[in-house]
This record gives sequence, C-alpha cells and structure tokens, in this order.
Amino acid sequence: MKRLTVSDHDRDVAGYTYVYPVVSRRAGGVSLGVNLNPNNACNWRCVYCQVPGLVRGAAPPIELPTLTRELRALLDEVQSEAWLARHVDAPFRRIVDVAFSGNGEPTTARPFDEIVAAVLEVLDERGLQGLNKVLISNGSMMQREEVQRGLARLAAAGGEVWFKLDSATAEGRRRVNDTSSSPETARQNLRISAAACRTRLQTCVVAIDGAPPSPRERAAYLELVREELAAGTPIADVLLYGMARPSHQPGAERLSRAPSSWIEAFADDIRALGLAVTVRL
Ligand code: SF4
Repeated sequence: MKRLTVSDHDRDVAGYTYVYPVVSRRAGGVSLGVNLNPNNACNWRCVYCQVPGLVRGAAPPIELPTLTRELRALLDEVQSEAWLARHVDAPFRRIVDVAFSGNGEPTTARPFDEIVAAVLEVLDERGLQGLNKVLISNGSMMQREEVQRGLARLAAAGGEVWFKLDSATAEGRRRVNDTSSSPETARQNLRISAAACRTRLQTCVVAIDGAPPSPRERAAYLELVREELAAGTPIADVLLYGMARPSHQPGAERLSRAPSSWIEAFADDIRALGLAVTVRL
C-alpha cells in the first residue's frame, strides 16, 4: 500500500471493498471510512460530487461478513505502530474517527441498522468505543424505519449525522443536487434525523458559472434554518464548506470555488440565528 497523505482520498488505496483509511488534516489523524456504495451509486447527483463514474441508484446488497472481516483486517493494520510508521506522517499517527462515507448515499444500503450494529460491534471488540462515529448522508432515506433504527444505534454509541443541506429551494436542489426531493421533504427528514441522533448540517457552497448562490437561495436557506430552530429541531451546528477537490461530474467545468468572503458572510448570517458554524474553505 502506498503512503497515505492528507491530499490523497483514494478509497481503493488499501485494496478493500468496503473500508478504507484516509489521513484527515482536519481531524488530525487517520479516519476509517466505511464505503457502502462500492458500485458508485447514489440516489442524488450533486454537481460537485467527487465520485468518479457516479451512477444513479442505490447501494448493492452488502456482504456483512466481508465488511466486518475487512474492518478487522484494516484495524489490525491501523492499530499497529509499524504500519502507521510506514504509511502515515508522524503528526497523524492515530485513529480519530469512523465515517460511513462512501461513493454514494450510505443509507440506501440495506439492512442499514444491521450494518451499523456490525460496525459498532467490531469497534467495541477493539476497545474503540470512544472514537467519533459519523454518518455522512444526504438525508433522503430518513423515513425508512431501518435507517431510523440505525440512527438510534449510532446515537447510543455517541455518533452523529452530517446531514446535507445545500439548498432550501426546489430549483436549487435540482440544480445543485440533481434531486426532485423538495425542501419540505428535506425539512421532514432533518426533523427525523435530529430527533434520533445528534445532527449537524453540512452545506457545500459552490459557484456555478462564476456566481455564488443567489440572494433568493441564501434567504431561503436562512429561513428554513430559522424556522426549524423556532420549531425546536435540535440542529447541533453547521459545517459550511467550499469545493475542496475537483468534481467528477458532467458540467464540472462550470464550477468554481465561491469567494471566501461570501462563505464567511453566509456563516455570520447563520451564526446570527444562534447556531455555531465551522467554515472549511
Ligand atoms: S449525495 Fe454525496 S455521494 Fe451522492 S451525489 Fe451528492 S455528493 Fe455524491
């Protein structure tokens, strides 16, 4: 296996189907990824998506014994000092988190609750209960009972959901996420997620044809968040981020980073609603 770097997020790096290690500068160590979409299938098609060869669809049937075997094998490596010394630069030689984050929407994988349970069991076995556990999701499957059971398991283990909300208008969601899922559906899914498990919003800001989101988009987002907070939806905080790596989707040439000043000003608007915001440019 090649040496891991903070800029290399190749999910095939360790040669497994379902698990991969990534060095995360942000988290300051090695993040273990669980990829439930080795078929590169997602029910959305975000303009900025970095999955090469992304296809529309759901996760394939998951071979749980293979997943847990691979996770144990990866942990054997990552928990070994010799492996860390060989593959990871000194400041990052520790495991910091486990993320359900793959080449598509993880919650389309079935049975989602059993998958979460199996991963948590392996972490328990290894004495890694204290690791951060994150489900990175577009939130579109929250109405499924098995997903809700998975969230409950994650919550009981101290995990959290990073819930994608890039736009609060139907037009923006079609344009940015290529989804017909309405803002109202997003709102309902957000409520389900936040009630079941600690949930932060993850919001990607990109410029399309040189223009950051319109004033209407910005206002609609702020209004949705304001209304949800007023309704008591326990949103934990917001992660606002720009495009870190190139999109692999058609039309990528129309995308660019939104100006940092725009993102910072947007972050201030969200903070004014009473939420903490982390900005990752
Ligand atoms: S939800 Fe995630 S995996 Fe799916 S298209 Fe959007 S960025 Fe890609």
